[in-house]
Amino acid sequence: MKTPAIVYRFQDGVYINLTNRCPNLCTFCIKTKWKMDFHGNNLSLATGEPSAAEVVAALEKELPKAPFKEVVFCGYGEPTMRLDVLLFVAQTLKGWRAQSKYPPFAIRLNTNGLGNLINHKNIVPELAQVLDAINVSLNAQDEQTWRKLVRPETEYQDGYESVVEFIRLCVQAGLKKVVASCVDQTGADPKAVEKVVTSCGAQFYLRSFLDVQD
Ligand code: SF4
Repeated sequence: MKTPAIVYRFQDGVYINLTNRCPNLCTFCIKTKWKMDFHGNNLSLATGEPSAAEVVAALEKELPKAPFKEVVFCGYGEPTMRLDVLLFVAQTLKGWRAQSKYPPFAIRLNTNGLGNLINHKNIVPELAQVLDAINVSLNAQDEQTWRKLVRPETEYQDGYESVVEFIRLCVQAGLKKVVASCVDQTGADPKAVEKVVTSCGAQFYLRSFLDVQD
């Protein structure tokens, strides 16, 4: 078994694997199907989640190796489960960017949008200080469909409206790019999801079934 990857490359990005924990159990999540592997990277953190210092050290090792256009907080898992580490690392990246330590790059979060419920507060102002872009997996046009598809833990059963509000707050906070997505061929109505997303002022993205990774 390969050593767990704290950071890994995908397309033009360097991705950060903060946690495998997630309050959802989406019908389309690939982490179980792909046995915690993502294109040859072992994303299983079964032996422990990385500290902020370990993430920073992994980035310092990886970033000089090859060009990249963005650094993405992703997973297999929900990054806002580790908000303090996320904010610290993003702030560090922002500092490196201000010093032109690397060519210009964007800092993005991929999230299921439940961060406000997970952290029991509005986390958007803190995120907006350190991120350029947020991709939110919305995946449904209404609460009933959302519950059926993302199968949230009991305390998040009523979370759909909070996810929609999270998207709206991100737009209002002035993040450069706010995208909310729907996975195709799951039973959701992509056109109706798009309507919800654009009514929040965000961009809509239809993801292919096997492109799910957050
Ligand atoms: S697809 Fe994302 S939100 Fe859904 S269970 Fe997997 S990690 Fe969680």
